[in-house]
Parts: sequence; structure tokens; C-alpha cells
Amino acid sequence: MISQEDEAWMREAIAVARSKGSHPSTSPLGCVIVRDGVVIAAERNQTHELPDATAHAEMMAIRRACEGIGDLELRGATLYSTLQPCGMCTMASIWSKVGRVVYGAGRDDVHPMYFEARHVDTLSFIADAYRDDITIEGGCLAADCATLYYGPDADLPEAEQANL
Ligand SMILES: [Zn+2]
Repeated sequence: MISQEDEAWMREAIAVARSKGSHPSTSPLGCVIVRDGVVIAAERNQTHELPDATAHAEMMAIRRACEGIGDLELRGATLYSTLQPCGMCTMASIWSKVGRVVYGAGRDDVHPMYFEARHVDTLSFIADAYRDDITIEGGCLAADCATLYYGPDADLPEAEQANL
């Protein structure tokens, strides 16, 4: 169940996503990790800036959260992401032991360029994870989050569809 508290944290993730511009061409993806009512990491994707193909918002936030608390496990934490996490970030969530993943816009809300091949699915990664103490829920402020991204039917030139 998505709660009002979840929506409040998602608004923070949206603000982080917008921190370097909110046009879809700036790839605004935001992630906050919250534990015991406190934000322990807030990051946006930095793939182009670093450059680092793995620097998705969720990856960066998991790194910062682990550094910040000095522990490689984020048990009891909730990871909020403005967009449904990709396979890499989903696996990173599983490995880092977060207890819950909450995302905003889902696959059907945005352009297919944001996701890998159709048969790879975040939800089945979680369902089939070696852990049974992690849950995932989508649709938290989905409409607000979706405005950050190219729509499902956007006519994008190939160059714009390059990776994030
Ligand atoms: Zn990712």
C-alpha cells in the first residue's frame, strides 16, 4: 500500500530528479533512500557527468547510503525512485538488502527507451529474488513522475534514445 508518507518521500525524489533540469532530455531520474524517517541518500543519475554507465540514481543512492551509515546492508530502508528501476538497479536493491522499493512511473507510463528488453522485468526479479524480505510497489505519484519523461508514444530521434 502506498501511503501519504510514501508520497511525501516521492516528492523529494522528484525534486532531486529536477535538480539539474526537468526536461526529459536532461534524463531527470531521482532516488531517495529513507530509513527510520530519515533520508540517508538522495541522488540523481549521473551517467553523463561522471561518465559512468552504472551511475543510475538508485546505484548512486545505494552507494551514498552505505558510505553514510558505514554498512553494506540497508536493512529496514525504503528506496524511492521516480521511475521503475532497471534490472541493474533492482539487483543492486536486492544485494544491498533494502526492505522495500517504491517507484513512481512504470513501464507503461513512459517511452520504451527507458527499459531493456521486454522479457527482463523488475517485478519478476524481485519475485524470484533469493530474498523473501523485499517488496516492490509502483505507481506512487505515477502521473507526476511520468511528466519528467518522454511519453510512451513520443517520436524520438535515435540520438535522443541513447542510454541514460
Ligand atoms: Zn537503473
